[in-house]
Amino acid sequence: MNMDNRDGYIWVNGEMVNWRDAKVHSLTHGLHYASSVFEGERAYNGKIFKSKQHSQRLINSAKILDFNIPYSIDELEQAKYEVMKANKLTNCYLRPFAFLGCEMGLQGTGVPVNTIISAWKWDSYFGENNMKGLKFNIAEYRRPDPQTAPSHAKAAGLYMICTISKNKAIAEGYDDSLMLDYRGYISEATAANIFFLMKDGKLHTPQPDCFLNGITRQTVIEIAKNIGVEVVERHIELDELENTVECFVTGTAAEVMPVRQIDNKYQFTPAKLCKTMINKYNKVVGKT
Ligand code: PMP
Repeated sequence: MNMDNRDGYIWVNGEMVNWRDAKVHSLTHGLHYASSVFEGERAYNGKIFKSKQHSQRLINSAKILDFNIPYSIDELEQAKYEVMKANKLTNCYLRPFAFLGCEMGLQGTGVPVNTIISAWKWDSYFGENNMKGLKFNIAEYRRPDPQTAPSHAKAAGLYMICTISKNKAIAEGYDDSLMLDYRGYISEATAANIFFLMKDGKLHTPQPDCFLNGITRQTVIEIAKNIGVEVVERHIELDELENTVECFVTGTAAEVMPVRQIDNKYQFTPAKLCKTMINKYNKVVGKT
């Protein structure tokens, strides 16, 4: 996407900076030791969906990594809308993030915190033809035990295994990877949560006890309940995919995106529920 060479503005520590000048020094703690947290948000027709919830998650993620973002939820709120205005955006993706600045050595306490917000037009994470459905392989890496990593932070370091898995999936002709967790249960895709409509007519989704309980996931659960679809949050085994009739992933970037195949073995046909969830989600976020 050529992210460094664009017209526009990025909000850097309280100031609007020309897009091409929003740079960091090479000896940045966040780059070396992954002391970095981020958000992904979307604005639809001028309104950021669940904006304050995203800001709260950013602040919580930083706290989990033992640093404080020096802005309140209201200040972040104002900054996000300023970035959209400066870039003349009403339908866009927003990327607020925060990381420890210039310092070497592992200790993070006392290192200055940088907070940056950028926004750009990013229409579809997986491409436009959504009812065709995505193809997933199964990732070699597993979601870590919460005792070995800060699983509930949206922290850059947790994405290392996602990028490796995503690269492999693409190289092998898939769209993305399904990741299992440290116990072997189904967890999520590399940047989205996952749902299965099973033969019992219920919508099953993994219990988010070692991965992000996505804001889209929570929204979709509410939508399902409102339309009378029972949602079951539990540990799900891989071979239960045999009982699955429809499958979709959810995330701010991905929105609601059907899946048609997992691991060359399990096939699903995106149908009524996928279509309904896409339509309802688009209404809830203010897209249509
Ligand atoms: N899991 C991971 C690993 C993600 O990166 C994302 C995207 N933020 C999600 C789940 C979905 O989260 P949300 O719906 O809050 O965007």
